[in-house]
Amino acid sequence: MSSSNSAKKKGPGHWSTGLLTSMEDPEMRVDEDDQCVTIKDKYPKARYHFLVLPKEKINSLKNLNGDNVELLKHIQFKGQEIADKADKHLLFRFGYHAVPSMGHLHLHVISQDFNSPCLKTKKHWNSFTTEYFIDSERIIKQLEKKGRIEIDTSSSETLLKKDLQCHICSKKLSTIPALKSHIALHCVSRKKST
Ligand code: AMP
Ligand code: ZN
Repeated sequence: MSSSNSAKKKGPGHWSTGLLTSMEDPEMRVDEDDQCVTIKDKYPKARYHFLVLPKEKINSLKNLNGDNVELLKHIQFKGQEIADKADKHLLFRFGYHAVPSMGHLHLHVISQDFNSPCLKTKKHWNSFTTEYFIDSERIIKQLEKKGRIEIDTSSSETLLKKDLQCHICSKKLSTIPALKSHIALHCVSRKKST
């Protein structure tokens, strides 16, 4: 497919622009200020799963420069705020996917119980529990240091195919149902995961 063709196919209405539609949807929007909007993830992979998006048109991490450091810090702050509101005792992570599927920059705010019927595949699991998920703090540090974000995507596909492994005790499990039964035994609180 030529790049102009691909751009056309990803225009308004294409599934990959769905986050923009959800940003405008009062049913999906949970918070808003002058710089960003927080929405519920439509297919949550944990008990609490939100996305924080800038209002400014920024497609992905690749489009950021040194001037965006404060914006990214603000996005993370808003993420922490919504996590505290949801459950201030539960452990959350705040980060970005190395290779996002959806257009428009979005920070994942996800509780670490991963207790959700929408979490169905190895790809889902590995996208939130391997290095495919990059913590917001790391992204901000890199942007401060280099003025741009460089992500080595050469191992991304391999990461998504990794064997299933518990994110808390590293136990290997052979199926998603077995993994889900196992992680339900862990207590995922901010003080200490056991
Ligand atoms: P990523 O792989 O970082 O692009 O993740 C995109 C996220 O957006 C996934 O967690 C999806 O469940 C979520 N998602 C997909 N479509 C929508 C939508 N229309 N509104 C809200 N969230 C969505
Ligand atoms: Zn475990």
